[in-house]
Amino acid sequence: MNTATSPDRPLLLGLTGGIGSGKSTVASRLAALGAAVIDADAIARSVTAPGGSAMPAIRAAFGDAFVTPEGALDRDRMRQQVFSDPDAKQRLEAIVHPLVGEETARQTRAALARHVSVIVFDVPLLVESKHWQARVDRILVVDCLPDTQVQRVMARSGLTADAVQRIIAVQATREQRLAIADWVIDNDALSLPELISQVDALQAPLQQARAAVAGSPLPYPVGGV
Ligand code: ADP
Repeated sequence: MNTATSPDRPLLLGLTGGIGSGKSTVASRLAALGAAVIDADAIARSVTAPGGSAMPAIRAAFGDAFVTPEGALDRDRMRQQVFSDPDAKQRLEAIVHPLVGEETARQTRAALARHVSVIVFDVPLLVESKHWQARVDRILVVDCLPDTQVQRVMARSGLTADAVQRIIAVQATREQRLAIADWVIDNDALSLPELISQVDALQAPLQQARAAVAGSPLPYPVGGV
């Protein structure tokens, strides 16, 4: 049977939140509850990591100088290049984007083959990407106050408050995220166990949403299942 159109097809859930919101914690809990989690950032990093699928084409297009001894993209070198040669960014993206797309589709097909009930797309740039928004059935946003984000990220990473604020300033705003949300977890005044309970409490609404999309085509057609 073709999982992509079957009555028991999974719910495709977009997950987003600003840095330090608790998005990764929520994704881990959803995975522990049986969801497949597809991590867009990790996929984007992996294709230019040592041995990544983009590395042969990057070496061929830009030369050995852009590859570290370990075989990864030399990001500092590429940043300098992009600064002096604006075309370089496009040439790099022309290599990287299709491979990220292929890997995302491959992981989605693998999740479909496992017959999970929810596939979570952990996408930090969901607000910015209409393309990603169109690929999911529902969107879950993890929300908290910017001050809380700063405290959490400082504690986790040792970054200064200024550095965290600069990252927050270039991300989508809370309002923009909330505007695309079907569900919001307000992770501001919660303890970690309370956050976990909130994710657990979403299981029933997620299954209801899954029933509501049953039989409709997958919004992200990945073929080959
Ligand atoms: P994100 O993926 O959104 O950057 P994380 O899930 O990694 O956020 O959470 C950021 C940090 O804050 C982690 O160290 C996490 O353990 C902690 N954290 C998240 N939510 C809570 C909470 N409700 N109470 C205490 N610590 C939390």
